[in-house]
Amino acid sequence: MRTLITGGAGFIGSHLCERFLAEGHEVVCVDNFITGSIPNLDPFRDHPRFKFIGHDISNPLKIPGPIDNVLHFASPASPVDYLNYPIQTLKVGAMGTHVTLGIAKEKKARYLLASTSECYGDPLEHPQREEYWGNVNPIGVRGCYDEAKRFAEAMTMAYHRTHGVNTHIVRIFNTYGERMRLDDGRVLPNFMGQALRGEPLTVYGDGSQTRSFCYVSDLVEGIFRLLFTDYHLPVNLGNPAEITILQFAEEILRLSGSKSRIEFRPLPADDPKVRQPDITRARTLLNWEPRVGREEGLKRTMAYFRNKISSGS
Ligand code: NAD
Ligand code: UDP
Repeated sequence: MRTLITGGAGFIGSHLCERFLAEGHEVVCVDNFITGSIPNLDPFRDHPRFKFIGHDISNPLKIPGPIDNVLHFASPASPVDYLNYPIQTLKVGAMGTHVTLGIAKEKKARYLLASTSECYGDPLEHPQREEYWGNVNPIGVRGCYDEAKRFAEAMTMAYHRTHGVNTHIVRIFNTYGERMRLDDGRVLPNFMGQALRGEPLTVYGDGSQTRSFCYVSDLVEGIFRLLFTDYHLPVNLGNPAEITILQFAEEILRLSGSKSRIEFRPLPADDPKVRQPDITRARTLLNWEPRVGREEGLKRTMAYFRNKISSGS
């Protein structure tokens, strides 16, 4: 099988490239490095079944030869990144999704869209089930990301209904692990970087907002299973273990042995107050369950960041 992965030089995309190579696929990775990095490709860039194409997927792309699977993961994903690149984020969610669906249609390939829990916005239903339509501010600072992904979902369903493309949509909840960028601004790299450098941990607001953190290998397993189903509606993937951001800061301090303090900073606009996936659909459909507990996942990720910081890379 030949699998196209957009955003393959990013955090999740690089783990997907690795997994599909391990499954015996040829992997074609497309990335423009807007938020990804070449070192993320290092573990497999010389693999004989790996091919890299430097390209902005918001623009048309012709790929010679057959393609069996298209996974569209290209998009800035950290709130700091998509605030820095709002137009690129809207374009890759809209045009990038159109371009990749066009490739899947032409090649008669399976298609999987990386969507997000942000489709639920600042949710009024808790935990979030796939049936919930969300509470999104389209003109707020997060609108560029949330609405791009909501458009991407609509476009994906339209290609399924109109052209019969075998599409899949995964709504990813906060995922973490090795190969996140230390400076991507998300809470986990921020807290870990701060704890390991002995700087104060910056908790936004009073830290009572919640998130539910999923380790990357669990997410990749769920994505792999979903791609080979005939199910076309969105599926939540995430770890339902919910924690407040203040507790999360304390947990990272404990695991790192750091003496850093906690400092409170203003809460960004439209920051969701709660987030927890209802994963009943994934459990039933995919027989999937997250396996890596938070403490184990955090220890692995901390070892990665410790190494990055001490080697200065
Ligand atoms: P990331 O920023 O590490 O990776 C995104 C990758 O896409 C980068 O390598 C970037 O250079 C590439 N990219 C962006 N725009 C592009 C374009 N126009 N053309 C080509 N390449 C482009 O982010 P991530 O956390 O790995 O997220 C990957 C995907 O998963 C995104 O679509 C994101 O919305 C989705 N997602 C992630 C999370 C999470 O918790 N990590 C949660 C929900 C959804
Ligand atoms: N956050 C924080 N300190 C930081 C970075 C983030 O308290 O240094 C908070 C942020 O306000 C949000 C949560 O942590 O409530 C998760 O933020 P992240 O940027 O990781 O992604 P989000 O889940 O909001 O998309």
